[in-house]
Amino acid sequence: MSRCMKILFKTRYAEIIVTAKTNRKTCQVCNGSGQYDTCEGKDDCDYCGGSGDFISMFEHDTYSNYQKYFSKDDIEKIDMIKKLHEFTFYRDVYAHSSLSDQQAKNIKYPEEENLIVRKIQWIDKNLQR
Ligand SMILES: [Zn+2]
Repeated sequence: MSRCMKILFKTRYAEIIVTAKTNRKTCQVCNGSGQYDTCEGKDDCDYCGGSGDFISMFEHDTYSNYQKYFSKDDIEKIDMIKKLHEFTFYRDVYAHSSLSDQQAKNIKYPEEENLIVRKIQWIDKNLQR
């Protein structure tokens, strides 16, 4: 029996659901402590942003160390939604910078939102080999 988890990635205009082939609950780098040792003492873990959660790795880990948990297709999907998420923000910033001063006064400067990542379900699977 092996456990997988379904994970939702959600940005303003799109969402995807991917399956992580792991039952890991904690960040793979700090193992849930949220910190790691540096020569100057403890520091927040860069890979999970200090929360220690597995799920947080998708928001903070710019090196994409989590890729081994996913199929090729799912990695593509995650890359796409991350790109879409960034693009939406930069497009809004660009659109705002193209406004006249008069218009810009009335329209709020775009705020950078977080890409939402949530575990939505555990799945138990029998591995057939
Ligand atoms: Zn960590």
